[in-house]
Amino acid sequence: MGKLTVKDAPLENKRVIMRVDFNVPVKEGVVQDDTRIRAALPTIKYVLDQGAAVILMSHLGRPKGERKPEYSLKPVAKRLEELLGLEVIFLEDNFGDEVKKAVERLETGQVMLLENTRFQKGETKNDSKLAEFWASLADIHVNDAFGTAHRAHASNVGVAKYLPSVAGFLMEKEIEFLSKVTYDPEPPYVVILGGVKVSDKIGVITNLLEKANKILIGGAMMFTFFKALGKDVGDSLVEEDKLDLALDILKKAEEKGVEMVLPVDTVIAQDIKEGVEKKVVDIDEGIPAGWKGLDIGPKTVELFKEKLADARTVVWNGPMGVFEIDDFAEGTRAVAEMVASLSNAVTVVGGGDSAAAVKKFNLETQMSHVSTGGGASLEFLEGKELPGIASIASRKVRKPMVAGNWKMNKTPSEAVMFGQKLVNEVGGIEAVDVVVCPPFVDIPGVSEVLKGSKIELGAQNTYHEDAGAFTGEISPLMLKELGVKYVIIGHSERRRIFGERDEMINRKLKAALKHGLTPIFCIGETLDEREKGLTFNVLERQLRLGLEGFTLEELKKLVIAYEPVWAIGTGVVATPCQAQEAMEFVRNLLCDLFGEEAKDVRILYGGSINPDNWFSLITREDVDGGLVGGASLKESFIELVRITEKVV
Ligand code: PGA
Repeated sequence: MGKLTVKDAPLENKRVIMRVDFNVPVKEGVVQDDTRIRAALPTIKYVLDQGAAVILMSHLGRPKGERKPEYSLKPVAKRLEELLGLEVIFLEDNFGDEVKKAVERLETGQVMLLENTRFQKGETKNDSKLAEFWASLADIHVNDAFGTAHRAHASNVGVAKYLPSVAGFLMEKEIEFLSKVTYDPEPPYVVILGGVKVSDKIGVITNLLEKANKILIGGAMMFTFFKALGKDVGDSLVEEDKLDLALDILKKAEEKGVEMVLPVDTVIAQDIKEGVEKKVVDIDEGIPAGWKGLDIGPKTVELFKEKLADARTVVWNGPMGVFEIDDFAEGTRAVAEMVASLSNAVTVVGGGDSAAAVKKFNLETQMSHVSTGGGASLEFLEGKELPGIASIASRKVRKPMVAGNWKMNKTPSEAVMFGQKLVNEVGGIEAVDVVVCPPFVDIPGVSEVLKGSKIELGAQNTYHEDAGAFTGEISPLMLKELGVKYVIIGHSERRRIFGERDEMINRKLKAALKHGLTPIFCIGETLDEREKGLTFNVLERQLRLGLEGFTLEELKKLVIAYEPVWAIGTGVVATPCQAQEAMEFVRNLLCDLFGEEAKDVRILYGGSINPDNWFSLITREDVDGGLVGGASLKESFIELVRITEKVV
């Protein structure tokens, strides 16, 4: 899956804020159906087992931004407690200082449930203050609420701006199965659609017409098709204004070579009630006036069986009739049983009603997947990008790099010892480019130690000439001979302490490239510049002057490191938002200057990186890795590489 999950996140001793879907029916303070609570248990338990504390949030019903006791999650806390076998601390609020204090008291292994997120007006408005508050309670956001994924609300989408958001197991499974049937179905692919309205399913039909081999239609929506085809439908439900649409769908299906299968018979009655007189009529005979079709008939069941026999992929959305009433439930039951019996097919049931039907007939475990989302699964099948999935951090598209800048630290013997340790621990990792940049005099020894490992060697500086009367300088030629592959150029300490200017940096970058070294070109604003609102101006100046005369081909050989000077060696790390904002600016500027292909240039973040803050930075879209100072001198560097490995 292209998204990160709880398995990819470092969870030990972390506070995890988890958005779950506890939108369950509650009557007189008692949960009536705990399916959704059970569905969240695997993720909650996993996160607890990894040594984290869990803060849960969910909506329940539609209290419209008001505190309404009938929508309290208190009964859910009670049921969750029973299911988990653990105390669940229920907070009767979800915003403000008291909540903050209560969360601060939360210990590893403890579970807390905040009150209904929709008691806050800002929830459905995706208010950034509210999202920021919820984010401030934790280190990582876990999104396991697939049922809400089609909504951009503060608790699922808004928080992800401030915290790394990863998928829980339920979300992961939903994405996996729904992606498979939406984007990569194995043929023969049969889609079964039911429910009342064609208009509800038009998006799904349009999208799946591109992939499906057969579409079987049932439910009341069939009568809109029949009426459009000139059949007598009696008093059956028809969307009068969708007749043209129905004909259009049939025409499109024919053009695309998709077989549309309409029922051949239907169960009719005069009332939608248990125990009333009912009959089966062929569609061609027509339905008499005063009667309405309420289910598919037995011949249709046989026909559908035949059409499903060789299916390798099946999606079922929408019941075949009024299945809530036993008299009209046979068609839906038969379809549910048919789909359940297809053991060689991937079978996905989506949509609230069909999921309820499968549950009613006790066939849940025999389907590959029964989606927990109604609207969300429909929108997924329509091919839409759901905001609550888009906000989950993605795996890295560019190969990440973790480069250690040892600065003026470690004598040659210490360097060799540490280099050996790195080789032992992370020397075989291929998914991440691991680079160490020791002081010049340490390079020969470290170079020897790194031989045979995947770790690459970098230098911290170079002069731009190959040789000559430049006392105290080192040339790229010399570095090259020692096996050096990378060279840091334009580090803020060189700019600030040793007076390096943009023009000089430009010459060094060119010289490095000339000798086949990959420059790690550092840029970044000072605190003063940031406070004056000059960050983007500074970055633009450094990039324009540093890259003066560069072609796209040359640029593509570079790695850029965005290092806010105020964050270097200070322990004050840029927030993930600040880092992302600046790095996105850099990427866009490179694209403006060099064309779209410049988007593939790797951009590293640098400045007070440590294993605690790294996950929240590396999970940002434009952060392709890190240039690490202090934390590269010890074990923490190994941890940083391991965290990075997980996001690939
Ligand atoms: P720091 O240094 O990680 O110690 O802040 C980063 C750098 O100078 O590259």
